[in-house]
Amino acid sequence: MKITNNHYDVVIIGGGVVGCAIARELSKYKTSIAVLEKEDDVGWGISCRNSGVVHAGFNYKSGTLRAQLCVEGNQSFAKLCQELDVPYKKIGKVVVAQKKEEIRELKKLKAQGEKNKVEGLQIIDSAELKRLEPNVKGIAALYSPETAITSPYLLTIALAENALRNGVSFFLNTKVKNIVKLKNSDFRINTNKGEFTSSYVINSAGLYSDKVAHMVEKDKYRIYPCRGEYHVLDKNASWIINRLIYPVPKAGTGGLGVHFTPTIDKNILIGPSNEYIKQKDNLSTTSQIMKLLSTETQKFLPLISSRDIIRSYSGIRAKQAPPSEGGYWDFVIEESNSVNNFINLIGIESPGLASAQPIAKRVVEIINKKEKLSPNSNFNPLRKGILRFEEQDKATQKALIEKDPDYGEIICRCEKVTKKEILEAIDNPLGVKDLISIKYRSRAMMGRCQGGYCLTRIIELLREKYHLNPQDITLKGEHSSLLTGYRSDEVKIC
Ligand SMILES: Cc1cc2nc3c(=O)[nH]c(=O)nc-3n(C[C@H](O)[C@H](O)[C@H](O)COP(=O)(O)OP(=O)(O)OC[C@H]3O[C@@H](n4cnc5c(N)ncnc54)[C@H](O)[C@@H]3O)c2cc1C
Repeated sequence: MKITNNHYDVVIIGGGVVGCAIARELSKYKTSIAVLEKEDDVGWGISCRNSGVVHAGFNYKSGTLRAQLCVEGNQSFAKLCQELDVPYKKIGKVVVAQKKEEIRELKKLKAQGEKNKVEGLQIIDSAELKRLEPNVKGIAALYSPETAITSPYLLTIALAENALRNGVSFFLNTKVKNIVKLKNSDFRINTNKGEFTSSYVINSAGLYSDKVAHMVEKDKYRIYPCRGEYHVLDKNASWIINRLIYPVPKAGTGGLGVHFTPTIDKNILIGPSNEYIKQKDNLSTTSQIMKLLSTETQKFLPLISSRDIIRSYSGIRAKQAPPSEGGYWDFVIEESNSVNNFINLIGIESPGLASAQPIAKRVVEIINKKEKLSPNSNFNPLRKGILRFEEQDKATQKALIEKDPDYGEIICRCEKVTKKEILEAIDNPLGVKDLISIKYRSRAMMGRCQGGYCLTRIIELLREKYHLNPQDITLKGEHSSLLTGYRSDEVKIC
């Protein structure tokens, strides 16, 4: 579909967790908003490929935006997740020292955290570490009770769905190619789906935010991609740790070190590594880094075996710090000083997930200062997610099946996802049909067999719902068809 004459007060480029948080925050005011996202769904950039940690804020240099917004984000995260029906667990974290000299680093981190107003930080000795985490090898640790975990993709989807419910327009599969500042001071935004105009543009394009900035202002920013690879462990290994387990971070590296993250769904993530790469879309996993992750694991958690690994994946940090320098630069959240009403978000690497809501508030403040926006009295902060059958007690499960027999049919055996949940995921408010989108919404295909059992059944449900030809069913966007057509003896349903 080609779109013409589409004018919005604000166009947000990028439907990651930050772009969607900005859309929701702006929808609290009377203003017309469009989100333009180049992929088929929200959150397919950095936002679905991270550790899902709601950092407490002690890792970041005092006085920086990263420190300030992370602490704010951490403190308001539980309420955000409650409003949006997104899983959240405050499980705490230990940063583990294995050598005497690392204890000095723990003390520095604690002092920095206290300066940043992080609550409850304590240095614990080996006996206390053993009590908290009996399987972790270490001589002391910094314990942070405020660190939490969430589901990064469910949060992004929930922010988008709530923004949509509050009047924001989402244009998926819509890639911004060019932006022109017009004489009347509006922007003309050219995309593969046609032209948009707007009074404001918010550049929230993650790894490509430098490219989008260059559409109006040459060579101002540069993003260097820095890849982090992960192993995902089977849920059977979940008993090995209770909290997030981190090593003492090494100065000058672009990550927090290979850590062990229990996810909301009871897998453990091992990673991420930290490697500057050339291409922003190179999401490969490599045997070299896989070996490194296993070596690091043996140092801290020798009980973890390679048999526990069910999958590997990678995410790419949007770094401003060049490879020759390493480390971190602060977030850039500012209106361009040469192009009026063009707001850049550059270098939103970790803790961008934890800070997404405060980042969004900052952006709205910038606009509000200039426009004095009127509140939207119809704004509804609440959104309901898909009810997880497996998490209900027996009586509720029985009542659900009586009400709707689709709850009585398990489609994904590993994750125990029912037909009802898959149908709800297929029927999602953003209208996304890719298999990966159904996976993120329902958890089907995320277990030990990685879709070996349920994939074909989900394809059948998709086909029935949308009358799709097999070759039109995609795994993740264009050119990812899994099937080539019908067998000659099969009856077509469409
Ligand atoms: C390995 C790793 C681990 C991390 N762990 C954590 C963590 O535990 N906790 C935490 O707080 N943070 C973490 N982060 C950081 C966090 O993931 C990011 O800060 C956050 O996801 C950034 O969101 P975003 O919306 O800015 O970017 P993205 O999610 O990348 O969104 C940008 C969007 O813009 C779209 N886009 C780009 N160009 C165009 C265009 N021309 N037209 C239209 N759309 C376009 C992209 O498709 C993308 O969807 C981690 C990051 C990595 C890489």
